Amino acid sequence: MTTVLTGRELRKSFGRTQALRGANVSVSGGEILAVMGPSGSGKSTLLHCLGGVLRPDSGEVAFGEVRLDRLADRERSRLRRTSFGFVFQFGQLVPELPVLENIALPLLLEGRARRAALAEAAEWAARLGLDGLWDRLPAELSGGQVQLAAIARALVARPRVVFADEPTGALDSVAADEVMELLVDTVRDHDAAMIIVTHEPRVAAFADRTLIVRDGLDVQPVGAR
Ligand code: ADP
Ligand code: MG
Repeated sequence: MTTVLTGRELRKSFGRTQALRGANVSVSGGEILAVMGPSGSGKSTLLHCLGGVLRPDSGEVAFGEVRLDRLADRERSRLRRTSFGFVFQFGQLVPELPVLENIALPLLLEGRARRAALAEAAEWAARLGLDGLWDRLPAELSGGQVQLAAIARALVARPRVVFADEPTGALDSVAADEVMELLVDTVRDHDAAMIIVTHEPRVAAFADRTLIVRDGLDVQPVGAR
């Protein structure tokens, strides 16, 4: 397996709060890494630094040959759009846009022709069981359906790395398992890597490996299988 993304000695403070104090992490193509740890331990900050949403105060983030921590904001956002996919706890779809357009958004932002983008979005919607819901607004969907649409949107541009922050946090356990199965299968099918932050052991059980974060530091990976 080839390493796709590596974070080395990552540090990040917010005022006097040291959210990351030298965390190390790497993920390979086709690998699903769970990140666990107590609330406030720096999981989201770690994910945001790795995903190029936040710039670490020090340390390196390497995406292949590209040093993410050194990229200018503009290039970093571009790389995020083309190579990364994000899924958050509450889906965060655009409330004014119907499901299909929400899913197509990353392609539309990349300048893909509208018709082609919507056709591709429709394929992802079908794959994730959202047929017949294209025209609905996010407010007209169940929590599980919102998460499925958010996953479709995260995957539509065929990212190399998917970042998921408590993606099932708002779901009951049946919906959570369904969402996880789809997410994991699709990520593996595309040989992408995924880093998934969760405090739920049943979610972490879907991963190949679990990294525990405590007080902004990674501690020994557990649960390799
Ligand atoms: P987790 O995701 O593990 O719950 P976070 O990474 O969100 O933890 O937060 C780690 C620490 O950094 C916490 O003490 C949190 O309050 C603080 N923190 C995170 N983001 C910010 C921010 N934007 N401004 C100030 N403090 C923050
Ligand atoms: Mg968090």
